[in-house]
Amino acid sequence: MKLFILSLFFPLTLYSQTDSCDILIKNGKIIDGTGNSWYYGDLAVKNGKILQIARRIDRPAKKIIDAAGLIVAPGFIDVHTHLEGDETKDPNATNFILDGVTTCITGNCGSSNIEIGKYLEFIDSLKLSINVATLIGHNDVREKVMGRASREATPEEMQEMKGIVDKAMREGAVGFSTGLIYIPGTYTKTPEIVELAKVAAKYNGVYATHMRNEGDSVTQAIDEALTVAREARIPVEISHFKLSGQQNWGRSKETVPMIAAARKEGIDVTIDQYPYTASSTTISTLIPDEILAGTQDSINARLQNPQTKKYVVGYMLKKLAKRKLKHFSYAVVAYCEADTTYNGKSVEEINLMKGRKHTAASEAETVIDIVMHGGASAIFHGMSEEDIKRIMKYPYDMFACDASIRQFGVGVPHPRGYGTNARVLAEYVREQHVISLEEAIRRMTSLPAQKFQLHDRGLLAEGYAADIIIFDENKVQDLSTYQHPHAYSRGFRFVIVNGKLTVENEKHLGIRAGRALYGPAFQNNSSLSVH
Ligand SMILES: [Zn+2]
Repeated sequence: MKLFILSLFFPLTLYSQTDSCDILIKNGKIIDGTGNSWYYGDLAVKNGKILQIARRIDRPAKKIIDAAGLIVAPGFIDVHTHLEGDETKDPNATNFILDGVTTCITGNCGSSNIEIGKYLEFIDSLKLSINVATLIGHNDVREKVMGRASREATPEEMQEMKGIVDKAMREGAVGFSTGLIYIPGTYTKTPEIVELAKVAAKYNGVYATHMRNEGDSVTQAIDEALTVAREARIPVEISHFKLSGQQNWGRSKETVPMIAAARKEGIDVTIDQYPYTASSTTISTLIPDEILAGTQDSINARLQNPQTKKYVVGYMLKKLAKRKLKHFSYAVVAYCEADTTYNGKSVEEINLMKGRKHTAASEAETVIDIVMHGGASAIFHGMSEEDIKRIMKYPYDMFACDASIRQFGVGVPHPRGYGTNARVLAEYVREQHVISLEEAIRRMTSLPAQKFQLHDRGLLAEGYAADIIIFDENKVQDLSTYQHPHAYSRGFRFVIVNGKLTVENEKHLGIRAGRALYGPAFQNNSSLSVH
């Protein structure tokens, strides 16, 4: 009887040593995500969770993985992705899974679904191989209420926008994001952002921002992000932290200390980066913002005006001169719907292809033509390796691909969508020793889990969700390049998502065990309704 009662109250203590498990990982070097050193151990998985971790585990298992010589770590959490619209293109999310990523945070840069509850239900019904959490994006909120209007919000519009953010947080968003270089976010003044961030703060959300400027005015942009954090009392994540433009190279000497000083002041600020010296965005970012307001028709109407066109060309040439460049060779079209022969070519090359003069002015007109024909995504070679490394050395910097689920072979996308984590581990940990392996893994796991409040993920600990990767630290390698981006990373031998073996010997098994992850407000609501 006594034993019975004991087993009722402490079922695990009697249960655990002999009970079978689903997966038993043996002989691995465990790096648990805390930043602590590796140690030898075994790890048992059952019912989607980590059942036990010990120096040696001998219990029956449906599947035994010999991880001798391999690293066992938590699945990586990518805090900055853009999955919207690509979820069904490859529900296996192969580019993420084979780069060690088991959880993505989407809805970044102000761009998300408006109906967060419906979106998370959609994610669950679709069954991806990765877990997905989402932010609510400011640009979509503003566009829903105000269209693409270039003005301040009226009090009524402000109220309506707050209502959308409020609902999104209650439905499970993990926070609020902005994209202040994009339309219509760029028309927004700081107080509007503060007011909306306060709503996210009320529900324990975070504020993630693609700042207003990542080049000449980067320090003002950082100040704005910190102002939002201070005034809305919200943790802030500065997305894809970088220095754009050749003229700004080296300024991470200014910007990283700004982040450190803000933390000292008591602002919960963290940053993330992708480990590449080129960025990827729309080609229209070369054109002044005011030209881009409204619909494609209104953009074209403006650009057809010779006076306006002359102004735009002048603006673009001035910016190019600032970079100390003679041609738009640093801007490469990734994907152009209107003419796919542009894909993979620089603006300089496209201009020559069209038989035009080999001048920057002519290249500027070529860009205008592309924008008038619906635009294109583009890769901009504009960052320095030294800045990347200096940012990487900052301990509260995470890694994020700023990409989506990739359709293998389609377009010429930025390689970061395939190789971000493998590249950090191969290039910056193994080859250049910029940070240690344990530190890199901490930044890929427990740091993002803490920031985005994924409380049962990001660590290898008993009771945590069994998102686990097993990889070869000597062989892990990104293979995706700017020229040939469609190549999966190598070295991630096994990937387990929610306790289900998803990758075996670097082959995706087609298992889709990911699920929607709900933000803090949703969790509180559901626990209240249970009790
Ligand atoms: Zn962004």
